[in-house]
Amino acid sequence: MTIYGTRPEAIKVAPVIKAIEGAPKLESITVVTGQHRMMLDQVNEIFDIDPTYDLDVFGVGQTLNLLMAKVFDRLDPILEEVAPDAVVVQGDTSSVAAASIAAFYRRIPVVHLEAGLRSGSIESPFPEEANRRITSQVATLHLAPTATSRANLLREQVDPGSVVVTGNTVIDALLRAVEAGGPFSDPDLARLADSGRQVLLVTTHRRENWGEAMHGVGRALHRLATEFRDYVIVLPVHRNPMVRTAVLPYLAGLSNVIVTEPLPYGDFTRLLSLSTLVLTDSGGIQEEAPSLGKPVLVLRENTERPEAVEAGTVRLIGTDENRIVTEVRSLIADHAQYEFMSHAVNPYGDGMAAPRSLAAIESMLGIGDRLPEFKAEE
Ligand code: UDP
Repeated sequence: MTIYGTRPEAIKVAPVIKAIEGAPKLESITVVTGQHRMMLDQVNEIFDIDPTYDLDVFGVGQTLNLLMAKVFDRLDPILEEVAPDAVVVQGDTSSVAAASIAAFYRRIPVVHLEAGLRSGSIESPFPEEANRRITSQVATLHLAPTATSRANLLREQVDPGSVVVTGNTVIDALLRAVEAGGPFSDPDLARLADSGRQVLLVTTHRRENWGEAMHGVGRALHRLATEFRDYVIVLPVHRNPMVRTAVLPYLAGLSNVIVTEPLPYGDFTRLLSLSTLVLTDSGGIQEEAPSLGKPVLVLRENTERPEAVEAGTVRLIGTDENRIVTEVRSLIADHAQYEFMSHAVNPYGDGMAAPRSLAAIESMLGIGDRLPEFKAEE
């Protein structure tokens, strides 16, 4: 039984759900929590996944505690009725922490995809760092995307035999989407692609950036759009009103800024492919962009994804207005620096994370053998 709810979870579990669906010895049951309704439906549609159960936990402005309570309350009867052999969760949202504990209380083995990411600070990202540590405590099988994430788990005394390095399934999804190709469904983006103009792709949504930090991002974008008239800034804006009210007022009336609704995954990967550089606080985009050779400036103070920072294609710059402007300016002006940051690297996966995950799950259930682990190129 796979349980997921947000857009990034849907993208990252989709390749695993498809692998489980194709496994003759397994039956796939999917439970969506319904947190990001529209963005979730978009992904389910692309990957042709029709959820078995929907917990429908969304509520405007609800607290994390109410969300957790709803997941416990609505998931438990399903766990009782279905009695799955294993529950698969992905990542670090609060619903993942709740679903993991709920399964653990029912003595159902928890398989944690993307296990072992750590920022080192329980406060940041909030509440994700706590959620992923909680999930690690109750998981039976830890599917770590990289050797670094495995090392984090072993440092916390997790049984080494229960950790498998699979690569990140986000790369499986990305390669599948890029291979599928096709035109933009958004007409503004189709025109942009034809124009051949340089694109600065921006996304921001993290809870710890809500408020003044996000205003800083908005002001910086205004200055960048004014200074670099030959660039087009594209902002697929998250649905959260906290994000919209902070950033959008700074972008009104700028002709070289395109603000879109959250893009379907296919359009987003197309946009990423044609971007010159990326400014984001997203976790998934930090993983995807390096394999397409796109430099990323991360609007955060720390990251639980150090691999691409070490490879030199991702740089942490925070949310200070002046720093953002300076960093973008220097990357645009300094060709050698840009060339260095835009070499394609693949520290997060090789597109085979889903088959490795499936094999590890089958091995845990005693019906198959593990595959060789993922090794990043040196
Ligand atoms: N994404 C998308 N449409 C968008 C913006 C992002 O499909 O308009 C995808 C992106 O390719 C990545 C994932 O959503 O795989 C990242 O989601 P998000 O930034 O919301 O969450 P995070 O990765 O930070 O948890």
